[in-house]
Amino acid sequence: MSDLRALYEQMILDHNRKPRNFQRKPEGANRHAYGYNPLCGDEFTVNLTVEDGVIKDVGFEGAGCAISTASCSLMTESIKGKTLKEAEALFRGVHNLLTQEGEVGELGKLKVLSGVRDYPSRVKCATLAWHTLQAALENKQETVCTE
Ligand code: ZN
Repeated sequence: MSDLRALYEQMILDHNRKPRNFQRKPEGANRHAYGYNPLCGDEFTVNLTVEDGVIKDVGFEGAGCAISTASCSLMTESIKGKTLKEAEALFRGVHNLLTQEGEVGELGKLKVLSGVRDYPSRVKCATLAWHTLQAALENKQETVCTE
């Protein structure tokens, strides 16, 4: 097993056992989006409190498999306190990392998400959180679907 693969497995286990910012709606949440991955049945609502262009707080609710839950947990942890621009850059970086297209940029520990590429059928579980985040940033009302 490669180091990255080991780190990935560890991250999924840890974030799935103790998801961060899970089953909570932050005080004053003003941006929301609902995402659904029909391939696996994962569904999450992402709630953001955005003030002065900064993500002050974030929470997510719903249910999904270990990969989608861990990815959502990691996403909330990494965007808290970020500006909208920084969050958008992280979304693009993770998206490019998982689709292996384009610039990835500075992702820090989010790089471990690339471990999911060894399981192509689960990539949509990992991207769901990020597509839902992007929809929340745009305050989209329609359901985000990974299909
Ligand atoms: Zn899933």
